Formats: sequence, structure tokens, C-alpha cells
Amino acid sequence: MPKHSPRQLDPRAPLVLDTRDLPRRPGALRELRRVVAAPADLGVELIGVPEGADLDLDLRLQSVSEGVLVSGTVTGSARGECGRCLREIDDSVVVNVQELYAYEDSTTDETTDEDEVGRMQGDLIDLEPALRDAVVLALPTNPLCREDCPGLCPECGVHWDDLPADHSHQQIDPRWAGLSQLNRTEE
Ligand SMILES: [Zn+2]
Ligand SMILES: [Zn+2]
Repeated sequence: MPKHSPRQLDPRAPLVLDTRDLPRRPGALRELRRVVAAPADLGVELIGVPEGADLDLDLRLQSVSEGVLVSGTVTGSARGECGRCLREIDDSVVVNVQELYAYEDSTTDETTDEDEVGRMQGDLIDLEPALRDAVVLALPTNPLCREDCPGLCPECGVHWDDLPADHSHQQIDPRWAGLSQLNRTEE
């Protein structure tokens, strides 16, 4: 039983790497620089790389005895919203990728689980899962527009930056103010 995912990789997909011109001789190297469009949902709930935005791949593909080691960096822009005030955030994300992809039917392929070592499909490598993991780890789970963002007033929803320093909702309702005065006269 092959352990590979049955999904057939598309060699033209932006994050599928073709190793046809990389000799299967340990030590053989190939540099891969490419700008591709980011796939959908690349990120976490509050921040991520917008779909279609540029992803800069700067990778090294190296033949090892049982597969190909992919290493390098992927750089992209990230957009999201502040976890405290919901203001838009423009950020960038740089991740390091280092992942081994085993040749089909190699000993590594036969003896390891798919979540330990990546798998090649013929000459093709699907970089997307590893890239997703790396991007998710690199992005903040609680992004902030700035370190000390004070957030919003919970009563009126206005940003504390836009409110006077003494802003408060503790003011006594004028009708109750009248009552308290009444109480005082009775004493
Ligand atoms: Zn904020
Ligand atoms: Zn308020």
C-alpha cells in the first residue's frame, strides 16, 4: 500500500517544486528563486498573507541519499487586524523552511510516517503544507497595531487614543442626580 496521498500534484501549481533538473546524486544542489501568488487561507484567524499576494521563495534544493532537502526562506506581506482595537495591520512575514522530502519507494518512504518526513511524488514536491505550518508559527496569534495599543472603550467602542483622558461612563444620570439631592434635603 503506497503511503502517498492520492492527490496528484500539479507541476504548474505555484508551490509545487519540480526537481527534474536536480540530479539524484547526494550533494547535488539547485537554487530556486521564484515569486508566486499566495494560496488562500495562509495564516491565522486575525492575520495572514492575502490570497494572491506575492510570496518570495528563496530556496535551495539539495539531493540527499533518500530524497531532497528543501531549505531557505519565504517572504511575504501579511494583513490583519489588531486584536485589541481592530485597526488594520500591515506587516510582513519571513519564514525559514527546512524540510526533507523522501523519494517514492525509498527506505525512508517505507519506514517513516508521512507527518515525520515529507514525500515526493515522482519529481514533484508539494511545499504548501510545510509553508503553511511555518507561516502559522511565525504569525502572532494576537496581533497588535502597536505594542501598547490601549484598545477600545468597552462602553462606547471608541479607541482610547481618540477619547479625552478623563473619558468615563460613570457620570450620574441627571435624574438620579436630582434624587440624590432630594435625599440630602430630607436628612
Ligand atoms: Zn490596536
Ligand atoms: Zn466610552
